[in-house]
Amino acid sequence: MTADPVTIETDVLVIGSGAAGMYAAIEASRGGACVFLIDRSLIGRGGATVMAQMTVAVALGEEVPDAPRHHYDDTITAGRGLCDERLTQLLCEEAPACIRELDGWGVGWARKDNHITATTVPGHDRPRCVYVDFINTGPAVSKTLRTVMARNKDIRKAGDICVTDLVAGTDGAIAGAVGWHVGSGAPVTIAAKATVLATGGLTRIYRRNSASLNMGGDGYALALRAGASLIDMEFVQFFPIGHLAPRLVGMDPIMWDPFRYKLGGRLLNGRMEEFTSRYGSDEDGKYVLPRDLATYAIFKEVEAGCGSPHGGAYLSFEHCSAAALRAAFGPVIDRLAANNIDLTRMPVEVAPIAHYHMGGVIADAHMQTELAGLFAAGEVVGGANGANRLSGNAITEALVFGRCAGRSAAAYAKTIARRDLYQHDTHAALDFVNGGNGGRDLNTAAMVARLQAIMADEVGPFRTATKLERALLEIAALADELGELPPHHTGAAEPGFDLQRLEWFDLRNMLVVARAVTRSALARTESRGAHQREDCPQMLSAWRRHQRVRLIDGVLQVAGAPAEALVS
Ligand SMILES: Cc1cc2nc3c(=O)[nH]c(=O)nc-3n(C[C@H](O)[C@H](O)[C@H](O)COP(=O)(O)OP(=O)(O)OC[C@H]3O[C@@H](n4cnc5c(N)ncnc54)[C@H](O)[C@@H]3O)c2cc1C
Repeated sequence: MTADPVTIETDVLVIGSGAAGMYAAIEASRGGACVFLIDRSLIGRGGATVMAQMTVAVALGEEVPDAPRHHYDDTITAGRGLCDERLTQLLCEEAPACIRELDGWGVGWARKDNHITATTVPGHDRPRCVYVDFINTGPAVSKTLRTVMARNKDIRKAGDICVTDLVAGTDGAIAGAVGWHVGSGAPVTIAAKATVLATGGLTRIYRRNSASLNMGGDGYALALRAGASLIDMEFVQFFPIGHLAPRLVGMDPIMWDPFRYKLGGRLLNGRMEEFTSRYGSDEDGKYVLPRDLATYAIFKEVEAGCGSPHGGAYLSFEHCSAAALRAAFGPVIDRLAANNIDLTRMPVEVAPIAHYHMGGVIADAHMQTELAGLFAAGEVVGGANGANRLSGNAITEALVFGRCAGRSAAAYAKTIARRDLYQHDTHAALDFVNGGNGGRDLNTAAMVARLQAIMADEVGPFRTATKLERALLEIAALADELGELPPHHTGAAEPGFDLQRLEWFDLRNMLVVARAVTRSALARTESRGAHQREDCPQMLSAWRRHQRVRLIDGVLQVAGAPAEALVS
């Protein structure tokens, strides 16, 4: 039996309710559009934004002189020649307006002497990163945007809707999406004059990650299947000091960054020696390396047999007094104590963790993708940060790109009289959601874990052709095992929250995204930023170019390598 879909019509459909999606919804509504905002999780609580506890980069210049052009210069330098300069410019120039608007909405940026205060973080040439409370930035941003949306009747919202495909109308433009309601299993069709893709990143495809369960890269796969191109898929950022040991419950695994900004943590190898000066840091006793170099330094120490007991490095704040720690982090110290961690007496162990993705959907400076009717915003967009992202730029990107995408989508929607989705537009996607009868005997949870292990072991921060080729074979084997059709949805009699079915759809996307990352990494025969090839260690000027990934007739194609790389 095929269930009838729930059908919805709107001017602007926003998929994903992190900072990018919520700001897009608010701005599209200000542009006169009726908005429908959906998320596969709870609205405003499903992705990275609500988990991001630290800082937001913006050239406000309230405490020390600053200007967007300095922020731009630092972002371009970190991006190792690969930033899409139009997007970087948008990011840096529009950040102050977004941050001040959030301030007006009551987000609560930390202040000193009545000025919004900023902290210095590696890669920025001056204090530029604003924050809320001790480590409460993302939750505060998310709550503020949720509150603004709650006052707006033109924004309808629905959680628990997992989008499985974008759909094009008869004119070829994207005309909405098809998905299913996770709670009931019912298929859903949404017709929209304009669609904003704001589905966040992909780091769940790695074993050690800072992601939520909703960050398996759905948006990249949706865009690919709809015919859009992705760029820079090889550039996955690893956060160098993700928590490793001792066990830490109920806290963000990447929470050590604000500690070191404020207190100057010391990074030590397993022999309790400082080692960052051997990898380019010019300051002993204080860890200031940018993310890619710190990741490299820790991996190399571990490889040389100098790692900490669990395979990472020590991060020590033992030089700080209890009073200094409490002054800097107040209630966070109590949460650490509940985990039996006393930083005045012990170091913690840290190791690189997959954290952010620089690549993604191609969009112009209006957030228009290559496909008419489709806009993109936030982490799902590729290019603004090039080969390596500066700390704090990701929330800024979500806010700025979200606002811009909402504005563009509303303007585009006004040019369209009516948007219908006919049965012939949606039937393939709907048939798919209703499912065949495959997949029920699969252990999808074990398959997700296998994929994560492959990506961590073969497509981690340090890569070789041999490892990448092995990964491609293993990913292909997993894809064969997954099969072509999801487990059957049998209609209303079926209990909701069918997690095996959800994992099947997750794997469908995770596998194509994993393949895009791996294929791009194999093709890029140099090392640059977050992409380090141990068999091609040099950064080569011929490779100062983007690679594009497309899905053509179901086959993934990577293009953009320089002619000399194709010959060798
Ligand atoms: C633990 C952590 C800490 C971080 N700290 C910082 C920081 O301090 N500073 C900084 O600048 N950056 C930080 N980042 C990065 C930053 O938070 C993200 O890049 C940014 O918040 C992404 O925002 P977004 O709106 O694009 O996506 P997200 O906030 O991830 O939201 C995407 C939403 O899309 C939904 N979604 C996904 N797929 C589908 C689908 N198929 N159908 C429907 N909905 C879907 C998800 O459920 C989710 O709610 C951190 C990230 C993490 C994980």
